Amino acid sequence: MTGRFALMIDPVAVEEQRSDYADTFTQVDAAAPALSVGELSTQRGDGVFESIGVVDGHAQEVVPHLERLAHSARLCDLPAPNLDQWHQAIRAAAVQLGSGESVIKLILSRGVEHGPAPTAWVTAAPAADFAAVRERGVRVVTLDRGYDLGAAERAPWLLLGAKTLSYAVNMAALREARRRGADDAIFLSSDRFVLEAPTASLILRFGDRFVTPAPNGGILHGTTQLSVYEHLAAQGFETAYDRIPATDLPRADAAWLVSSVRLAAAITAIDGTSLPVDTALTAALNRYLLSPR
Ligand code: PLP
Repeated sequence: MTGRFALMIDPVAVEEQRSDYADTFTQVDAAAPALSVGELSTQRGDGVFESIGVVDGHAQEVVPHLERLAHSARLCDLPAPNLDQWHQAIRAAAVQLGSGESVIKLILSRGVEHGPAPTAWVTAAPAADFAAVRERGVRVVTLDRGYDLGAAERAPWLLLGAKTLSYAVNMAALREARRRGADDAIFLSSDRFVLEAPTASLILRFGDRFVTPAPNGGILHGTTQLSVYEHLAAQGFETAYDRIPATDLPRADAAWLVSSVRLAAAITAIDGTSLPVDTALTAALNRYLLSPR
């Protein structure tokens, strides 16, 4: 594929759960005007989204992504996504993407202020080239997220477990990481437990045991982490969800940031202290993540 495009879902169909509404979308060129000036996703970030990795025209882990879209929509009091409709739109986008890596984004927004319905659309575009970072790894710094581990339960309106369109804080954290001479960040709770990266989940290895922070509403449950866990468990490794104190980070035998498009990036240093890198396992994880899932 050379260009970018979007599939705008018919607003009448967004709130309906009818399967005969599944193909009610219109394709537009990414450069063409498509959103209204009153659109709340652009004015307030009031909506939810998903980014799906596509390899050689195959969209990866579509069902877990749609499950998380539905979960995020529920947390934001948005209508339940019509899953048939999103499946169909993803298929329609994926068949137009040629060989190589691409990204399909699903966006479900509150819609136009005082408007009759949510706005929903799917975009498709070539992915950035992450081959070098998959090989070289990333240096990370820890950053305080400013909430304790109990915040998600105590204050659900913070939407900490939803993948909302409001990513300004996540992008600011990445800029801060770069200012500190790193490539990426790991958020810590204010009570010093490990959370997630601004756009990725964290997996740590201690011997033959792999551990990731429990997604108890305070962080996203990563579809890539779930997929990696299935793969590791099939190979006989122990996989676990846990509360991980920040003091455990430098003790890890290896660590990765994992996400749908960049895939697995080994962490080479945390706050300036080097971490062991398992080059062979990182390559094997990325081979697996690039295979049809
Ligand atoms: N955590 C956050 C905050 C993210 O933004 C992402 C992905 O964008 C992830 C975790 C990883 O999720 P996934 O593996 O589904 O891409």
